[in-house]
Amino acid sequence: MRIVAISDTHTKHNQFDIPDGDVLIHAGDFTSRGKQKEIRRFNNFLGTLPHKHKVVIAGNHDFALENEPELAEPMLTNCTYLRDSSIVIEGVKIYGSPWQPEFFNWAFNLPRGEPLKEKWEQIPDDTDILITHGPPYGILDKTARGEHVGCEELIKIVLKKKPAYHIFGHIHEAAGEIKQDGIHFINASLLNLQYKPAFAPTVFDIQTQTEVI
Ligand SMILES: [Zn+2]
Repeated sequence: MRIVAISDTHTKHNQFDIPDGDVLIHAGDFTSRGKQKEIRRFNNFLGTLPHKHKVVIAGNHDFALENEPELAEPMLTNCTYLRDSSIVIEGVKIYGSPWQPEFFNWAFNLPRGEPLKEKWEQIPDDTDILITHGPPYGILDKTARGEHVGCEELIKIVLKKKPAYHIFGHIHEAAGEIKQDGIHFINASLLNLQYKPAFAPTVFDIQTQTEVI
């Protein structure tokens, strides 16, 4: 099953060549200011893509999904929206969560420590692909100022639960991928620090249960 991972498109989704695949994953921040209009446009764009499955989580810019979920969530008709929830596609369990450590007053912010830990404890043990908006501490989370700003609680839980893949975004300038401790980490940001298109979607293949048999 071919997965195409993207993140942090901030309304500029039209400016990229998005390769075909079975599952498109967007790890949050598809809007710039979290307006309903931006969500509608993003959803229309998703409708034009050929991928059989599209899985989306929110990021810290996607305010309407935190502030008025009853209005905003039903607008995402062309994808599966995950918020501390999972979907199983051909036996592959994908879990998504939008939360990140507090930084000023953005959407889906939580204080570091216990409140985030409680969210990460909900990640099922048998998750194959984990999607979070923010990176785990120490992994593709270095800002332009050289600070690691990922979540300390998230890296602890991820190393315990060992998903095959962990996809995130948020820290644009740290885009890239790395394999460590048996986990394939992908910071799938497509824009750079200046919000200019700079990186390409990440494509990988994951074995499904039917393929194993
Ligand atoms: Zn973000």
